[in-house]
Amino acid sequence: MEKRLDIKTGFLCNNNCRFCVQAWSKKHGNRPKNDIFKDMRAARKNKCTSIVLTGGEVSIREDFFELIKYAKKLGFTWIQAQTNGRRFAYMDFCKKAVKAGINDFGPALHGHNAKHHNYLTRAPGSFEQTSQGIKNMKKLGVNVVTNTVVVKPNYKYLPKIAKLLVELGVDQFQFAFMHAVGNAMDNYEDMMPRASKVAPYMKKGLQIGIDANKRVMAEAMPFCLLEGYEKYISDFYIPYTEIRDVTSYDLNFGKTRKEQGKRKFSQCKRCKYDLVCEGPWKEYPERKGNKEFIPVPGKKIRSKKEILC
Ligand code: SF4
Repeated sequence: MEKRLDIKTGFLCNNNCRFCVQAWSKKHGNRPKNDIFKDMRAARKNKCTSIVLTGGEVSIREDFFELIKYAKKLGFTWIQAQTNGRRFAYMDFCKKAVKAGINDFGPALHGHNAKHHNYLTRAPGSFEQTSQGIKNMKKLGVNVVTNTVVVKPNYKYLPKIAKLLVELGVDQFQFAFMHAVGNAMDNYEDMMPRASKVAPYMKKGLQIGIDANKRVMAEAMPFCLLEGYEKYISDFYIPYTEIRDVTSYDLNFGKTRKEQGKRKFSQCKRCKYDLVCEGPWKEYPERKGNKEFIPVPGKKIRSKKEILC
């Protein structure tokens, strides 16, 4: 079984997204390199073979290439940069990252054009840079897996975003329903959409990717809102993950996410997906209630295999 390390390398960033879940951690700044190295060694001892270098924005660190090289030297075989992708607009930078050992690129694109994306990132020029970064990394043959945070200002454009991602040639894209923490909580009213209103646009966007033979994922959307697209719900595919952060370690994030991060409801007991569904992030029903989550009738689904086959 694959084991993954998700390592937070610090919280400084050259974007300031209106929904950033890490915004409240900015006071911690970036972590010293040796702390990160220590965490990488500990995770290897715990048999992690893949690593996600994340932040904040990991690519603005001066020692970014050193971190990648060290991960490679320790024997991580799958090394992903989870990034806003802006520094990858420069081909020289991309080549250095690939030479150092990056073999998976995880940029975030939140709009189908500069006006929409830059509004959300609050960083002029970020759309052009991230799009160029995707093109550059594809040219170098790197697997590109994008993430789009789904918020009130962009959900109606998910099909257009999907079209753009297909045109850019990404290998996989994910639509992640907003998690109301950090800036996303501070900007709750402006950012948080109704999950039931998002669903039809998300399905259309996923279908565009499916028709183009792309791998597609939906994160933090319960099954009852994505009927027909159940096998694209990302909870199924997230490997065993440990998170190493500035202030805390979570050696079984999957368990924490289910037990403390997500929320189920009394009506879920009548739903055929009850045994496999995590429900929405808990901050959603705390303000929006749970009436949108309508149990799906039918024989109980007991394992993901029943949905995947
Ligand atoms: S278990 Fe609850 S949240 Fe999940 S799909 Fe069923 S009704 Fe929706």
